[in-house]
Amino acid sequence: MTESVVGTSPGRVNLIGEHTDYNDGFVLPIALGHVARVTAQPRGDGVVRVSSAQLGESVELDALAPGPRAWWGYVAGVLWALRERGHALGGVDLDLDSAVPLGGGLSSSAAIECATVLALDFLAGLGLSADDLAVVAQAAENDFMGVPTGPMDQRASLWCTTDHALLLDCRTLTGRQVPFALPEDLVLVLVDTRSPHVLADGHYAQRRTACAEAAAALGVPALRDIAVADLPDALARLADDEHVRRVRHVVTENARVLDAVDALASGDWHAFGRLLTQSHDSMRDDYEITVPTVDLAVETALASGALGARMTGGGFGGTVIALLPADTLDAFSDAVVQAYAERGFDTPRISTTRAGAGGMELTPRR
Ligand code: ADP
Ligand code: MG
Repeated sequence: MTESVVGTSPGRVNLIGEHTDYNDGFVLPIALGHVARVTAQPRGDGVVRVSSAQLGESVELDALAPGPRAWWGYVAGVLWALRERGHALGGVDLDLDSAVPLGGGLSSSAAIECATVLALDFLAGLGLSADDLAVVAQAAENDFMGVPTGPMDQRASLWCTTDHALLLDCRTLTGRQVPFALPEDLVLVLVDTRSPHVLADGHYAQRRTACAEAAAALGVPALRDIAVADLPDALARLADDEHVRRVRHVVTENARVLDAVDALASGDWHAFGRLLTQSHDSMRDDYEITVPTVDLAVETALASGALGARMTGGGFGGTVIALLPADTLDAFSDAVVQAYAERGFDTPRISTTRAGAGGMELTPRR
């Protein structure tokens, strides 16, 4: 019997570029230090058993079929997607243990999918390319679980590298490494706002539909094809005021991602910070996906001296990132905890992060 193998892949946080992915646009994630780990041990009886140190359970290989299901589908779905693509894989024990917080907007689902595909690729000697690894992991989520997420999460988890952000073009699905090494006197803070994603799924679908409708009305394949310079003209051609707001967010957000890359290239952290805040304002006013908890965290960060702050992730809660002078971190932490207490919100969880290693960097490729 072959030895067991381990696949590891991290969670991610998107620095800027929100709701641009399904508009064929740009995103700029970094990998986190929190990592999911999957141990794969082959077994001779054609059974797939999946366990999670966080959640428990198991499933049989012949019962695998696409559609919405329980947590183990994110892992078993990777095996299903590999078999769909003609890779002969037998029974296996997949034991999962992840430090990525579940459902916090840090992509715990992609972390476990990517750790699984890395483990199975290695175990079966498939030699999948970086593209194929991402396609298979994304298929587990989109096709097996039936969760209609865009292409960012799995590519961020797999392809990010230490001290870099990944500029991902969601049309060509190609990435470019952008140096993201914070100077000593700055910290990137994550505020887990601990807000439930109430009705988030319906809002997400509505935003996607509005963008598709607006692109059709403007006669472009996707909103990515509208340049900022052409925005006033495009907005004037839209009859629906909701479409106007959604298009303004997507088009300006795409431009902000590219401006952010320029700011990083010239080491202008203040310009980078301003773009984060402009992104938040746009999500709040035009895309209408923020909630009082995230707005409060952003306002408190800015009042505490942040260079910039924004909600990250799909919206309606989740995580706020803030770029802060290191010597203001304690004061900010106290201020945000107090501000939440005054409003009766659950105590937020605060941590700092750097741009960590992606799964492919953690798992040496042959
Ligand atoms: P996010 O990816 O932002 O954390 P999702 O809703 O996309 O949020 O994914 C969270 C889901 O992924 C969980 O509800 C669970 O089904 C699955 N999951 C993530 N991590 C684990 C884990 N360690 N053990 C079992 N299931 C997990
Ligand atoms: Mg997810």
